[in-house]
Amino acid sequence: MIVAVNQTAPAAERKPLRTGFAFSESCLGHVTGESHPETPARLSAVVKRLADKNLLSGMERLSVRAAPLKCITAVHAPEYVARVRDACRKGAGVLDSPDTPISAKSYEAALAAAGCTLAAVDAVMTGRVRNAFCAVRPPGHHALRDRAMGFCVFNNVAIAARYLQQRYGIARVLVADWDVHHGNGTQAAFHDDPSVLYFSVHRANFYPGTGNGDENDGGPGRVINVPLPAGSGDAEYIAAFRHRLVPAAEAFNPKFVLVSAGFDARAGDPLGGMRVTDAGYTELTRIVRGIADRHCNGRLVSVLEGGYDPTGLADGASKAGERRASLADGASKAGERRASLADAVEAHVRALMER
Ligand SMILES: [Zn+2]
Repeated sequence: MIVAVNQTAPAAERKPLRTGFAFSESCLGHVTGESHPETPARLSAVVKRLADKNLLSGMERLSVRAAPLKCITAVHAPEYVARVRDACRKGAGVLDSPDTPISAKSYEAALAAAGCTLAAVDAVMTGRVRNAFCAVRPPGHHALRDRAMGFCVFNNVAIAARYLQQRYGIARVLVADWDVHHGNGTQAAFHDDPSVLYFSVHRANFYPGTGNGDENDGGPGRVINVPLPAGSGDAEYIAAFRHRLVPAAEAFNPKFVLVSAGFDARAGDPLGGMRVTDAGYTELTRIVRGIADRHCNGRLVSVLEGGYDPTGLADGASKAGERRASLADGASKAGERRASLADAVEAHVRALMER
């Protein structure tokens, strides 16, 4: 069913809308093991940081429920969804490949992660919030129609895009993906769907091996892939967004913007090998917000994907080195810790909250 969107309130009743925050404790129930980089600690670090910096109090906390199955099966095969559920209940250990471990509560975590994106979409579409950030895991952009992949179980952003189409009749959805990896699952989900523009900037010749060209194979789908060499940083990312995404969005005229916000291209991430800074994420956020402001009244939902240095405390030697560097350049107080994912998310959320 397509529902009508609330009309804008008269000027006298209007007050500035806040940024929504969607998070579910259930996402912490997906346990991947000590040596796996995609840990519950990532999400805990993000939420703690936003709380410690008093950002959460300035956001609208959204109530979240598990995504209804019909929303999941708008993207994934029903047999796959049942297989995920059964594998978790049986204690299968991994799903489809060793890189995606699962635990007893992983199915509930994955439903909650998708549910966060639906709650955020609802809140933006009904005018309750201006935009929203979803602090979720497991991540989603590698998940395929019938297969888990690359730490991802259900494709949260693809599920949100389908929900926007089916629930709200949104004609054109832009998905902007700045995770260091190519979102092969999202690309595949909309391969034949010209109503979704998938734009990805990612490290070239890197996991999962796709994203080397525009890859719509002459089909009707709209895909723009910008592979960048290892070691790329703010300049390359910002140029890709300004010179490739902005003109494409101008032609596409999206009615909603979704962001696959992975932070594993941040300098210092243990997996990414890129050099994006927090100032870079601020600027990327401003660019996607600018697109949303220009085309769709600022409607934007950002969804956490990767980013694997939650606290910056894993390596004592580099921590000491960071402290010395901080003292040397005077930029930070002595003893201040590097917290890669939390820092990047803080920069991103601050930019989402800017007036
Ligand atoms: Zn990634």
